[in-house]
Amino acid sequence: MGRTVVVLGGGISGLAACYHLSRAPSLPKVILVEGTERLGGWIRSVRGPDGAIFELGPRGIRPAGALGARTLLMVSELGLDSEVLPVRGDHPAAQNRFLYVGGALYPLPTGLRGLLRPSPPFSKPLFWAGLRELTKPRGKEPDETVHSFTQRRLGPEVASLAMDSLCRGVFAGNSRELSIRSCFPSLFQAEQTHRSVLLGLLLGAGQSPQPDSALVRQARAEHWSQWSLRGGLEMLPQSLDAHLTSRGVSVLRGQPVCGLSLQADGRWKVSLGDSSLDADHVISAVPASVLSELLPAEAAPLADVLRTITAVSVAVVNLQYRGARLPVQGFGHLVPSSEDPGVLGIVYDSVAFPEQDGTPPGLRVTVMLGGSWLQTLEANGCALSQELFQQQAQEAAATQLGLKEPPSHCLVHLHKNCIPQYTLGHWQKLESAKQFLAAQKLPLTLAGASYEGVAVNDCIESGRQAAVSVLRTEPNS
Ligand SMILES: Cc1cc2nc3c(=O)[nH]c(=O)nc-3n(C[C@H](O)[C@H](O)[C@H](O)COP(=O)(O)OP(=O)(O)OC[C@H]3O[C@@H](n4cnc5c(N)ncnc54)[C@H](O)[C@@H]3O)c2cc1C
Repeated sequence: MGRTVVVLGGGISGLAACYHLSRAPSLPKVILVEGTERLGGWIRSVRGPDGAIFELGPRGIRPAGALGARTLLMVSELGLDSEVLPVRGDHPAAQNRFLYVGGALYPLPTGLRGLLRPSPPFSKPLFWAGLRELTKPRGKEPDETVHSFTQRRLGPEVASLAMDSLCRGVFAGNSRELSIRSCFPSLFQAEQTHRSVLLGLLLGAGQSPQPDSALVRQARAEHWSQWSLRGGLEMLPQSLDAHLTSRGVSVLRGQPVCGLSLQADGRWKVSLGDSSLDADHVISAVPASVLSELLPAEAAPLADVLRTITAVSVAVVNLQYRGARLPVQGFGHLVPSSEDPGVLGIVYDSVAFPEQDGTPPGLRVTVMLGGSWLQTLEANGCALSQELFQQQAQEAAATQLGLKEPPSHCLVHLHKNCIPQYTLGHWQKLESAKQFLAAQKLPLTLAGASYEGVAVNDCIESGRQAAVSVLRTEPNS
């Protein structure tokens, strides 16, 4: 009898794990268990009454590098090429990103000329910070916060304006707590290998073999900065769902896993409330903190480590305006914590993807709220009402973008614990988890945003790697 692999969690990581398992020549029996009625996890696209698309989670996927290319390959294999909406390299959404500082929007400098010129809000041309970086000695610590690393190498302004904002934009997190080694591994590695981050980035990490397809070549030739899908990014999990079903994967929805136990024969019993599943191997693609509550007593040391990988919440407010114009054209802007502790940034969705504006077209922007403001509200037990978030978001759009008229359409969602935080020493947590799994020979593989990257590409790669490691132990593989 073939082996049974149960995958926990139908977000993009669990779906990607099933996708790669389902393509194996000797396919094990694969069962995907999702706790809610919908697949996709944080990837969720909603259509407005005029046909406009509102992304409640991710809104763009980067095509760069081997991971970006692998995702595009999967998109082609799913037959989605004609649905792809690219942001080409010469488009304003690819070229312009802004910082909102001191009540004004400033373009982030790009290219050599941009670095040589004075570029407020930075007091000196960034060229000088770069020159200083080249002369700095290599750090000696095995890990460092993003803030301390950037301050040491590029100076206090780059640390407190640029990297502070970037950490808020990507992780909704605090650069003074997040780990450089885990959040920006390429910067950490560049310093380790070449002593200088700039030198390391210029010389590159060496070309890893990249998958090739017509779509990958097109993305490279047109210098895409990101892409979406015509009907929203949720088309990706929906297509994966259809593909998996056609390949014989059982997809169980509305079945939250409530416990895992090890049986005498070494197999898992996966408890689903009223029923249970037997599994030879489990791939967990649920958040680390969720898995920590499911593990049996024998795996208590692993559960203790996973419990410490926490996540922060983000309120996503999608706004649509009729007859309004943005003061600038670009991907969007980020807001450093010193400027506004609550507003992480605003994405100008209509600039990157005007095809999703609806009929007649309306201007769409998304305000992301979170950070210390939201943490303080949560800690004080304040009522986190839709009205509060809508009011904060409208105020931000009015002050920061001049969108003073009331929006024609508004969606408010508070995503609780949606972005894992790789805080200082995160790599040690991963090491202990790996060591425990290897020493105990537990038939369990970890995937998902909690571990080695939160971007959609990272999550898909974590699912792929989980599938590869399971297939390696298949008797007939
Ligand atoms: C607001 C926001 C904006 C983002 N923007 C971008 C972006 O623009 N670009 C980008 O690349 N990335 C972005 N990201 C990051 C990216 O979307 C996520 O990191 C990624 O989608 C996480 O996927 P996952 O499958 O690992 O986890 P999840 O999406 O959390 O999926 C986990 C799944 O497990 C299920 N589950 C939980 N408990 C159980 C249980 N007990 N039993 C069964 N199932 C269970 C959940 O219901 C869920 O479906 C964004 C994230 C957020 C929140």
